[in-house]
Amino acid sequence: MPHMTDQPRIHLGTLLRTSDDAHAEGELDHLNYEQGNEHQTLHFAEAAPYEIDVNSLGGDDMYLQGTFEPTLVMECARCLREVHVPLELQLGTLMRFDPSVEKPHLDEADTGEEILLFGEPDVDLSGYLAETTILAAPLSVLHAPDCKGLCQVCGHDLNEGPCEHMAQVPVEEIDDDLGTPEGTVHARQNPFAALKDLALPE
Ligand SMILES: [Zn+2]
Ligand SMILES: [Zn+2]
Repeated sequence: MPHMTDQPRIHLGTLLRTSDDAHAEGELDHLNYEQGNEHQTLHFAEAAPYEIDVNSLGGDDMYLQGTFEPTLVMECARCLREVHVPLELQLGTLMRFDPSVEKPHLDEADTGEEILLFGEPDVDLSGYLAETTILAAPLSVLHAPDCKGLCQVCGHDLNEGPCEHMAQVPVEEIDDDLGTPEGTVHARQNPFAALKDLALPE
């Protein structure tokens, strides 16, 4: 059974010595990672299972593959209520052991492919999983395809009924390009840009 872990770690010491495959699995309710030089935390709506295998490609090169299924907590782009966005990520990344690397991080290999560099056999995959998750997250989501949004004058949630300003908000201002059901992907990008589509008062 998967167990809840604080950090997704995989130990590659044996793989580096004998080329035996390595395996790790567990569940995460959050991921700590660094962006710029700031500590960030990605919280999940429910336990997010991961399963990871690493195979030797010879020498210090290896290949990571597996699955990660986090459920993101985002805001509806129109009414700002909480939306749970389940993702099913297929992982597949080259890895390379380089003792001069301080923290595991993604870099670009000579071939242009992404490569996860690490300097210690006990690899913390937090940053890798966080970056993969953020890249796969939709740019914006709606809690329902027909979300009516907030009144631009008083902020009233129009899903709960009209307010006195209702007649002044032309229907055309609601962008139907965003008509995706809960949890579906609108566009690739990071979850922190979710406010982009919010219609603000002039
Ligand atoms: Zn909404
Ligand atoms: Zn209003």
